[in-house]
Amino acid sequence: MFFKSKFLLFLLLQCSMSSRAPPKALLQDMVVPPRQLFGPGPSNMADSIAETQSKNLLGHLHPEFVQIMGDVRLGLQYIFKTENKFTFAVSGTGHSGMECAMVNLLERGDRFLVVEIGLWGQRAADLANRMGIEVKKISAPHGKAAPVEDIRKAIAEYKPNLVFVCQGDSSTGVAQPLETIGDACREHNALFLVDTVASLGGTPFDADALKVDCVYSATQKVLNAPPGLAPISFSDRAIEKIRNRKQRVASFYFDALELGNYWGCDGELKRYHHTAPISTVYALRAALSAIAKEGIDESIQRHKDNAQVLYSSLKKHGLEPFVEDEKLRLPCLTTVKVPEGVDWKDVAGKMMTNGVEIAGGLGATVGKIWRIGTFGINSNKAKIENVVELLSKSIEETRK
Ligand code: PMP
Repeated sequence: MFFKSKFLLFLLLQCSMSSRAPPKALLQDMVVPPRQLFGPGPSNMADSIAETQSKNLLGHLHPEFVQIMGDVRLGLQYIFKTENKFTFAVSGTGHSGMECAMVNLLERGDRFLVVEIGLWGQRAADLANRMGIEVKKISAPHGKAAPVEDIRKAIAEYKPNLVFVCQGDSSTGVAQPLETIGDACREHNALFLVDTVASLGGTPFDADALKVDCVYSATQKVLNAPPGLAPISFSDRAIEKIRNRKQRVASFYFDALELGNYWGCDGELKRYHHTAPISTVYALRAALSAIAKEGIDESIQRHKDNAQVLYSSLKKHGLEPFVEDEKLRLPCLTTVKVPEGVDWKDVAGKMMTNGVEIAGGLGATVGKIWRIGTFGINSNKAKIENVVELLSKSIEETRK
């Protein structure tokens, strides 16, 4: 009797297991249409980077892969312009760079000053709130930068432990000037944290000259690599603060000292920390090699020159940049005012049917602007002129 019922149960389980059909969608091929990515990211992959994605995997502790990680560290020191030993890439997108920086550099009882020129300052403040950290914000109206004098004054008065500035806010297209903020931080014993996710390689940045203590970025913008890694660099001051924390870093995955050891930054025997996303590291190596071949300063200059091409194409078609002061515009991401009586969504949809992506606003700028990213290989005169031509045509075709 017992065996019979057990057999019946077995049959029942078999039936119920095999009765679940596989998802039909997965029996079809994946559809990936060609697309020109002129939104705020990801950008298009360069061929030399795309090629790396079919290379065979190596073990993450194999000597050849360790060598590739070493090359990536040298390339990141080159593009961040830093001698910082703790320079590596966090496994995760740009947000993981932000989280890694903040969970290491802040602890309960600390004061955090956020310069908010758009969504990314709000995001940093939100993360600090989740961590139970006291936040003070200094905000600029959207489309403008915060005056550096105001930031310096806030540092002197509030005496924060950490100051956050986003260099290129992708929700507004503003490039925040950074000069002398680092000096004020040193003077008042604060650490200086900069988000360069949307700006690195597309506008001047020099971590050491600016006295930046921590900077992070991402792979899918100027670098033209797939999303999935967040380059990051910590100064010796930052590492000293982390080593002297009262409480341990609450995250194992984002522990900068563990990650630094895994990436070979501390000169000690490498310990297993996690399994690096091997193929994405190959892609980052290829992206850094492309920048090394062009030269970081040459890449920045090209983005600046092609931003001028974009501005004059917009003018030719009667369109206006959202950021009025040209000196405050981020060269690799331009925001454009949506003209009266035009539906931004219809226009972006029309462009998409022509295989070209541009995006609408983000956060407070939704409905007011389009965002055109000209990152890396997309910072090209002919491509930019085509995009603006198509934008103008799409506006006319969708005007009611
Ligand atoms: N900071 C800035 C300035 C960004 O533009 C972005 C992405 N648009 C991020 C942080 C977050 O990056 P990710 O989407 O790769 O997590």
